Amino acid sequence: MKLKKLGDKTYIIDSHNKVGIYLINKTDVAIIDTGLSDSVGKEIMEICNSQNWQIKMILNTHSHPDHIGGNHIIQEQLKVKIYAPKTEKIFIENPELTSIISYGGNPHKYLNNPYLVPKASVVNELSKAILPEGLEYFNLPGHNSEMVGFKTSDDIYFLADAVAGEDIIKKHELQFIYDIQKYFETLDFIKSLDGKLFVPSHGENFIDNKFIVKLNYDNTINIINYIKKICFKKATFETILKNIFETYNLKMDFIQYSFISLTIKGYLTYMLNNDMLKVQFTENEQFWITL
Ligand SMILES: [Zn+2]
Repeated sequence: MKLKKLGDKTYIIDSHNKVGIYLINKTDVAIIDTGLSDSVGKEIMEICNSQNWQIKMILNTHSHPDHIGGNHIIQEQLKVKIYAPKTEKIFIENPELTSIISYGGNPHKYLNNPYLVPKASVVNELSKAILPEGLEYFNLPGHNSEMVGFKTSDDIYFLADAVAGEDIIKKHELQFIYDIQKYFETLDFIKSLDGKLFVPSHGENFIDNKFIVKLNYDNTINIINYIKKICFKKATFETILKNIFETYNLKMDFIQYSFISLTIKGYLTYMLNNDMLKVQFTENEQFWITL
């Protein structure tokens, strides 16, 4: 079974990305994120059934499809309430917004994919008042606009996608980031935490938060430096993207193009705002140039 106990009241289901379980009392549980699809939702319900646990609420850290995919089926079958931060709630209730924002316009038919557009669910705004005793939330913006994490009474921190575990960072250097400035601020916040165990959604759990933060930080700085190198002469967005795909061994398809474009736009915004790059329009082409 994929169920793992991490503390007295804290469990995870080790799926493609982790699902958190917090024991509210002997029989009731809160679920943190619901994985990629209906099938993960079913698996969560089966595992909870086998433990005689009743799902009392779902807490979504953010609106990415691989964190909310099981929402719909659990809510349909068990009528549970789902909570998420305000902006993330809007995206979870209107999942087509994720493909609109990734594409940057009216998405074409090839972007109407369950990995990009999960089924909608009804969501309430997350607040301290709705959380069971022993569970706290904290803001982790950057990877997505309004992502949150959760701390359990076992002193275990669920960090969502704010950092990737060491194994993941080594395999996939280019992590999805929406807002680099906020991402750096969130890394500083995570570095300052004092916890027993840290649980990223992707990759191995860790104890040494300072080490993992440094890995994630250095990785991001390397990408900034690489973009500076690409734009040393001057480069269009498509040239930057092509270089990134080739250097980081990525394979371009409709979905990767959308997600990596969104991330690279996040980097370019950060670098333009911090005077690392400038933009030049020449003969109706936009060029990015390193300063
Ligand atoms: Zn995510």
